[in-house]
Amino acid sequence: MNCALCERVKSIQAENYPYLIHEFPHSYLLLGEHQYYRGYCVLVSKSHHKEMADIPSPEREEIFQEMMTSSSLIQKVFKPKKMNLSSLGNVVEHLHWHFFPRYEDDVNFKNPPWLQMSQFDDAKITPEERDKIIEILQLEIL
Ligand SMILES: [Zn+2]
Repeated sequence: MNCALCERVKSIQAENYPYLIHEFPHSYLLLGEHQYYRGYCVLVSKSHHKEMADIPSPEREEIFQEMMTSSSLIQKVFKPKKMNLSSLGNVVEHLHWHFFPRYEDDVNFKNPPWLQMSQFDDAKITPEERDKIIEILQLEIL
């Protein structure tokens, strides 16, 4: 099977992936490689499922808890006005969830975050910035 996220999961398990924030039993919480929205993170399922409804119980309920823990963590650290949670999978058919914290100063607040996608690459972070954000998140997850 040729799946970019199965490959990513394998590489996280094999080495130290620098964007890894936390390993849950069923998923990995990763810091987004851009921070167009401060605190943008992605939760990736360890196993390959296409649809949320396809995840067998109790993994389904447990991964939902992992999503909620991730959301609470990002809310606690970044204090967004609203958290946007996006699960599409049209490009990569392997369950993952995008956490987009949205803020007061966002002129496009009422629009879906994906409409700003062309600007995401302009908000790449340095390894130092990445490590600092991950450290703050890891301290709060305990
Ligand atoms: Zn996969």
